[in-house]
Amino acid sequence: MSNNKTLKIKFYGGEDIPLELHKVRVVQKLNLVPVERRLEALHEGGFNTFRLTTNDVFLDMLTDSGTNAMSDMQVAAMMHADDAYAGSQSFARLQKAVEDVLKKKYLLPAHQGRAAENVIARAYISKKGDLIPTNYHFTTFLAHITQYGGRLVELLYDEAFNLSSTHPFKGNMNVEGLEQVIRETGAENIPFIRMEASTNLIGGQPFSVQNLREVRRVADRYGLNIVLDASLLGENAYLVIQREPEFRNASMEDVIATMTGLSDIVYFSARKLSSSRGGGICTNDLATYRKMEALIPLFEGFLTYGGISVREIEAMAVGMYETLDETMICQSPQYIAYLVNTLTACGVPMVTPPGVLGAHVDAMRLCAHIPQTQYPAGALAAAFFLVSGVRGMERGSVSNQRDEEGNETYADMELLRLAVPRRVFTLSQIKYVIDRMTWLHENRHLIGGLRFVYEPPVLRFFMGGLEPVSDWPQRLVAKFREDFGDSL
Ligand SMILES: *Cc1c(COP(=O)(O)O)cnc(C)c1O
Repeated sequence: MSNNKTLKIKFYGGEDIPLELHKVRVVQKLNLVPVERRLEALHEGGFNTFRLTTNDVFLDMLTDSGTNAMSDMQVAAMMHADDAYAGSQSFARLQKAVEDVLKKKYLLPAHQGRAAENVIARAYISKKGDLIPTNYHFTTFLAHITQYGGRLVELLYDEAFNLSSTHPFKGNMNVEGLEQVIRETGAENIPFIRMEASTNLIGGQPFSVQNLREVRRVADRYGLNIVLDASLLGENAYLVIQREPEFRNASMEDVIATMTGLSDIVYFSARKLSSSRGGGICTNDLATYRKMEALIPLFEGFLTYGGISVREIEAMAVGMYETLDETMICQSPQYIAYLVNTLTACGVPMVTPPGVLGAHVDAMRLCAHIPQTQYPAGALAAAFFLVSGVRGMERGSVSNQRDEEGNETYADMELLRLAVPRRVFTLSQIKYVIDRMTWLHENRHLIGGLRFVYEPPVLRFFMGGLEPVSDWPQRLVAKFREDFGDSL
């Protein structure tokens, strides 16, 4: 396997831009509808980008979940899938891929990442008040743990909350804090420790292998298991090679094996890891496997498909191996770095250093005039769609859940995430994003707040409905027309 040095491709002219190491063989036509239609679409969708339809969306930067481009090899593999309820050869191929790449021999399939979280939460949260220390929460993981009466404690270092930082590993777990939490809580009340690769909600920020080793030492001292959320493991490993001197010359395979080797249970969303659709939980410990085995047929499907189509299982198996290919894994992080560095140079407040899965705009700063009670990140997501047709995702207080008393809880960060799924966009599309975001930044005083009109009790950000607190969207459209004429 190549190391990162082979990926440095220099332009004679000195321009620092990412170069695609793939070619396009199947394409999908996009729609760019006029700004007036985009305003209508926002009203129809409750100013919530989750509720827009792709008829109205130009560049879909909502998520990298299930939207990564598949390789020709993945699509080809889907053709020879083995449709069998039990004992499918497709599942045997996936098991082998998981064993080869993640180095775990027992695999429990689940229909996506959150389904794996449901199974883990159900198996391990045994009493109310059980506490899971984690580097940081993920929306669906938190929802499942609280569903079964458990709680999370987040243990990042302060630097993780510094949005304009140069720290290479903001996803590191605070190991001193971890030890203190375990001593205060008692190991018997801690079902496991959770580490999330490329910590999603703080801007796709990795942890170092050294940090994971230290977490392992603490876990061993108290006899605790480590559960690794490996949904974005490939990108975390890529950044370890880029940023952790010890691994400068290591292969993706070695870094991934080192990280999974330090973990007892590894789970993943295959919508991210392996660029397909599905999920899974794997381990080398038979007793651990047995503890969760019965839950798969109950919630997911038989143990050799787990609610996943066998075609997707074939694509997962191939995609699992392709995770080890740096020319595949580097493309999204390089685009993100280009987006973040260029926008930062234009004065737009971005989360730094550039992480993975997407570029993150600091809405608390860009919309400093909007109080957190009026959801600055949600407002920015709506405003950016309005002026560009680009759909990002709110990752701020709208994505938070209310506390047990029903009070609003405000997020640590108000971010607009612009996801960059693997090998989907071209560089001119990325330049369009930069152009429209720069324009919006210059006109940021025109963005106003939002309020809820429909608030579901669980995971409200998915289907919730909001409305603007004033006629600010109309004024933004008027300014757009003034500056762009009759352009879309
Ligand atoms: C997306 C994601 C999940 C959930 O996976 P789904 O397949 O979307 O259910 C869990 N953890 C992390 C870190 C993720 O990014």
